[in-house]
Amino acid sequence: MVNDSPANLLTRDRNTVWHPFTQHGLVRDPLPVASASGSVIRDTEGREYLDMISSWWVNLHGHGRVELADAVREQILRLDHIQFAGATHEPAVRLAGELLESAGLSGKARVFYSDNGSTAVEVALKIAHQHWGNRGERRPLFATLEGAYHGDTVGAMSVGRSSGFFGMFGDLMFRTAPLPVPLVWKDHEDRDERDACLRAARELLDREAGNLAGLLVEPLVQGAGGMRFHSSEFLHELCTHFRERSLPVIFDEVMTGFGRTGSFYAFQQTDFVPDLICLSKGITGGILPLSATIASRELFDSFLGEDFSTALAHGHSYTANPVACAAALASFDLHRSTDSSGQVRRIHAAMTAGISRISSLSCVLRPRVLGGIAAFEFSGQSGYTAPVGRILSLRAQEKGVLIRPLGNVVYLMPPYCTTDEQIDQAFSILEEILGGLEGLS
Ligand code: PMP
Repeated sequence: MVNDSPANLLTRDRNTVWHPFTQHGLVRDPLPVASASGSVIRDTEGREYLDMISSWWVNLHGHGRVELADAVREQILRLDHIQFAGATHEPAVRLAGELLESAGLSGKARVFYSDNGSTAVEVALKIAHQHWGNRGERRPLFATLEGAYHGDTVGAMSVGRSSGFFGMFGDLMFRTAPLPVPLVWKDHEDRDERDACLRAARELLDREAGNLAGLLVEPLVQGAGGMRFHSSEFLHELCTHFRERSLPVIFDEVMTGFGRTGSFYAFQQTDFVPDLICLSKGITGGILPLSATIASRELFDSFLGEDFSTALAHGHSYTANPVACAAALASFDLHRSTDSSGQVRRIHAAMTAGISRISSLSCVLRPRVLGGIAAFEFSGQSGYTAPVGRILSLRAQEKGVLIRPLGNVVYLMPPYCTTDEQIDQAFSILEEILGGLEGLS
């Protein structure tokens, strides 16, 4: 391994790499990261930073877990990879069993593997769409929620069009029907707004009855669209309307899965079991790319036939990679041995205390906490390009805290091993920075 100087790493990066969601025309260099353990990231000069965003929401149990490393090493030496069409293996089958059992769906659903959150969504869209096609019906329209984000591939962009990220790609996308969402903070939901949103959904169902293929939502919290919370009661009612019309309901739990919202899956707080569930990010504990789309038995059965024409034409080179599956199985073991749901409850309490501490600042709007996610808005600015986001992340980084605000929406979503002291420290630093920025709001 090349052990180069930090300056040289950045020079080589500048000459060779194109980073995601990055405007390279702006001068700020990326953070040169050398190592990580627990909730702490270390840069190439040995400075430490608290990882308050779980490395893009993937890390659950902390960085550098020996249990995950051991499982991966063992699996590579036993079976590193095999194509998943026409072959199977123990880690994929065991993991499917774990996923279904954790969702309470053993015997009621099947697991389709892919390798990132966007493709988990693409698979769900294709299953919902083809389930109609296999019955001889053409249904090209998906209902979504306004402000939704579901990934960056073309289908996922289409259903996430209203996130506002993808203006340049409008002519590539298919048509969708975004529905309004009544937002919630401090457990408050405007009844009139909720009724109006549900009315809009019923009107859509009447107007587009023969075109709709299904409904896709990020349950309880819309992540990249700005950590927007809605109530489980609203979601239950909305989904029930679609189910009454036999329309598949897809929950994109790419961010919410594996404990983030306080239950293992967000749908478990809604009293509604979706027909399709998309999972990725934390599935491997955050160390290897893997995703899964759980599909109900009814949907699976609607693809059975005598020839390939009704089969699902989808698969990736790394579908169900045994090493990634072994990591995911080891992550399930860690959920049990570390009592991850207890850890999220503890983090929830610490975040609630932190959020209430900064709530008195006049620049802090709509403070909210759900499970292990805390968020607020910086008043007076809005949108993903709001300058305060970049200013805040830079100042926090200088003081040893890694955050990545979504424009004026600031959030913390730390790994489950993060201590109360670390959370307290992160909020103290945020409080200090925000205090100095109040004039901007
Ligand atoms: N769905 C949701 C809800 C997400 O938050 C994301 C990623 N932030 C995705 C899908 C896409 O996942 P990936 O980046 O792994 O493609």
